[in-house]
Amino acid sequence: MKLFAGLEGIVKSEAPLAPYTWFGIGGPAQYLVEPSRADQLAEVLRRCRENELPTYLLGGGANLLVDDAGVRGAVIKLSGEEFCSVRFESGSIIAGAGADLSKMVLRTVREGLSGMECLTGIPGSVGGAVRMNAGGAFGDIGSVVESVELMDTDGVAFSRSRGDLVFGYRSTNITSKVILGAQFRLAEDDPHRILSQVKQIWIYKKNTQPLGTRNAGCIFKNARGTSAGALIDKAALKGHRFGGAHVSDKHANFILADDGTRASDVLKLINLIRETVYKKFEIYLEMELEVW
Ligand SMILES: Cc1cc2nc3c(=O)[nH]c(=O)nc-3n(C[C@H](O)[C@H](O)[C@H](O)COP(=O)(O)OP(=O)(O)OC[C@H]3O[C@@H](n4cnc5c(N)ncnc54)[C@H](O)[C@@H]3O)c2cc1C
Repeated sequence: MKLFAGLEGIVKSEAPLAPYTWFGIGGPAQYLVEPSRADQLAEVLRRCRENELPTYLLGGGANLLVDDAGVRGAVIKLSGEEFCSVRFESGSIIAGAGADLSKMVLRTVREGLSGMECLTGIPGSVGGAVRMNAGGAFGDIGSVVESVELMDTDGVAFSRSRGDLVFGYRSTNITSKVILGAQFRLAEDDPHRILSQVKQIWIYKKNTQPLGTRNAGCIFKNARGTSAGALIDKAALKGHRFGGAHVSDKHANFILADDGTRASDVLKLINLIRETVYKKFEIYLEMELEVW
């Protein structure tokens, strides 16, 4: 591990990635790097750049499919304490990218701060949520972002504030490799009212999504104002399967992975869905899921 000499304590070679993803499938990372501090992270990024080793940022793995062959390069996970802190400061939250999104949302309820209820039931990390502009019918995280802390591949940290940021449908204009953390501006409100909103969203999700299964949320983005799930449903693909991967009967935009599923099963099912929907409706479904 000459490339990471002196950093052996935070680097694992050929490390399985399946346990780090919600699908729970896929091959290993050539290197899995879990820095404890920002200076270590910067050093890792610099060495990867100098050696032309591709880098990937892993959050909670809730929107990710790892190929059966795994990932060549360095997969970086911001699990160190320094990257996972959450601090409340007069109506704001300052959170590290590695912090758990759902736990943060629940804390905002207890603190009587409104604005993050729309993220109820969305798993993953704060960094992943900002990168994806996570959200849905109830709103998205971008609408409460005040500023973000970023790091480029030279290991240089810098910030961007609200005026520089554009959040779109499951997208942002953030191009730098690493989101280190973000500050969110929330509004004071009655904790009971916020909790009741959270409960309503939770019940809606429980009724419409296959909870308790292995999946990665919506596979495709909605297209031309039509829900991708409705298109897949109309194409009669609910329940369709390849190996252990099958289209959920409850929500057609969810693919579920039974025990023994291979990433290739999921990819075959994705291709079949795209081809069928295109043939029937002339709509090419774009991926929301990221494939490594
Ligand atoms: C049951 C279920 C329900 C879901 N419901 C929704 C929903 O309602 N709405 C919704 O939007 N999503 C939903 N998702 C998808 C997923 O929860 C979100 O996309 C989430 O924001 C992904 O966060 P993550 O930390 O898991 O990111 P990952 O899946 O780990 O990564 C996603 C992307 O973010 C990048 N990334 C992660 N961390 C960083 C970082 N620190 N810096 C830079 N880039 C980073 C990754 O490189 C990758 O490109 C659902 C998923 C599941 C399993």
